[in-house]
Amino acid sequence: MTDAPTTPRRIVIVGGGTAGWMAAAAFGRLLGPAGTHVTLIESDDIATVGVGEATIPPIQTFHAMLGIDEAAFLRATGGSYKLGIRFEGWSRPGESYIHPFGQVGTDIAGHPFAAQWLRARQAGMAEPLDQYSLEARAATAGRFARPIPNGDSPLSRVGYAYHFDAGRYAAFLRAHAEANGVVRREGTVVAVDRGPAGIAAVRLADGSAIAGDLFVDCSGFRALLIEGALTAGWVDWSEQLPCDRAVAVASAADAAPLPLTRSTAKAAGWQWRIPLRHRTGNGHVFSSRHMGEDEATAILLAGLEGSPVGTPRVLRFTTGHRRHFWSGNCVALGLAAGFMEPLESTSIHLVQRGIQHLLQMLPASPADDAIVARYNRIMTAEFTRIRDFLVAHYHLNARPEPFWRERAALPPPAGLAEKLALYRSGGRIFRESDELFNEQSWLAVLAGQAAPLVGHDPVCDALPIDAVARRIAAIERVVATALTHMPPHADALAR
Ligand code: FAD
Repeated sequence: MTDAPTTPRRIVIVGGGTAGWMAAAAFGRLLGPAGTHVTLIESDDIATVGVGEATIPPIQTFHAMLGIDEAAFLRATGGSYKLGIRFEGWSRPGESYIHPFGQVGTDIAGHPFAAQWLRARQAGMAEPLDQYSLEARAATAGRFARPIPNGDSPLSRVGYAYHFDAGRYAAFLRAHAEANGVVRREGTVVAVDRGPAGIAAVRLADGSAIAGDLFVDCSGFRALLIEGALTAGWVDWSEQLPCDRAVAVASAADAAPLPLTRSTAKAAGWQWRIPLRHRTGNGHVFSSRHMGEDEATAILLAGLEGSPVGTPRVLRFTTGHRRHFWSGNCVALGLAAGFMEPLESTSIHLVQRGIQHLLQMLPASPADDAIVARYNRIMTAEFTRIRDFLVAHYHLNARPEPFWRERAALPPPAGLAEKLALYRSGGRIFRESDELFNEQSWLAVLAGQAAPLVGHDPVCDALPIDAVARRIAAIERVVATALTHMPPHADALAR
């Protein structure tokens, strides 16, 4: 009989960016009471990335797990609400659409709204999709309300997330983690001592050594432990997602911020605009093969609404992920685990998923091969599904610039190719069981990017098209009425 596995007694987190403090807050709260000692090491000499301001709705689950009060969190982080992302000029110059959170429309006589809307739209009997989403319309109108119990009204299920200041978020989580017993050590890791399980200890510049049972690498793009010490390997996705630079700068806060992230297509990439309470975050993501940093910076500054605050900062990255997210007794989270451009605000979410899977797969001391293999398989799938969704935005475009023509010409990855083929034939959309983005998200992007489509789902024909058009018009009226019950976003924040 083998010894029963035990929860790691000592967890050492290296890195105090968003990923490090998210992990520390979660482990402190959930594992601390079971006797696990959590130490976080961060270096005052090595800056955090400091961007990462837009999130998606599952972050609410993470905050609920930590017992975070939403109002306190928004106050502390300069946060605002987010109802979706507006993609401007992505399908072709001059056109835009919103990928909203929440539910678009409602089933029509047992048929998914998406199928009947696609059919009615083809027949010229329905408005653009945004009209049937309360979140999309409220985002454009600058309105927001948290869900209000109200029968079947879309007001009762408003889907939302947040924009926030990443630096302030890390500080907020640090206070939470320290209140739950997490110990912070300031210092720079200069060496790693190997041991039978993988890593035995990390050594700091002051000569001290910090030993642990489980090491969590949150050291950012440096990937100090997972790659530096354990050479976990890298899966490169830069052929499918070639943007490898971002230049970021803040500008003044909007007087009336929209609860919306904006993503505007540019000649060799795209520009984000994220409204916080105290400032606006802006950045230009681009491909260095197609554009130099000076030109990209000039485009960013020319596209600002208002004057820049501070100096633009260039960040360099390669898209992809670690071949092994977990190796020996070390798990990588955040930028150390991998990176995909922030087109759908998924990086912080992937940190959250890594933490959640890790918590489910403990105890793991010594690390069990089956657990490690499962964790790596699941995280690879999470990354891959998101990659396919991002590539869809690029692949389906009719923009004229060489960067965009190349994106349209490149064959999509297998999972996306299948999704596009299913959609092309009658507008069928299926969500994989482990997939973050649901059918509604795919519909928003596929329809928004004008993905090729022939015919409609024949099951829809059970209902005459006139009846469908009437139902769709009624849904639009319900959304329009619900919108009148939403206060301005600024008022919702002031509460
Ligand atoms: P970092 O912030 O780089 O932190 C690394 C930490 O490791 C620091 O504390 C540093 O001091 C420490 N460290 C490094 N080396 C050592 C050492 N030797 N010794 C001790 N400590 C060390 N995500 C989203 O969800 N939404 C977004 O809108 C979004 N936008 C982004 C835009 C850009 C351009 C980029 C690059 C990223 C964006 N992200 C976004 C991702 C998000 O910023 C990161 O996922 C998140 O901040 C996690 O970063 P991190 O904590 O892994 O790394």
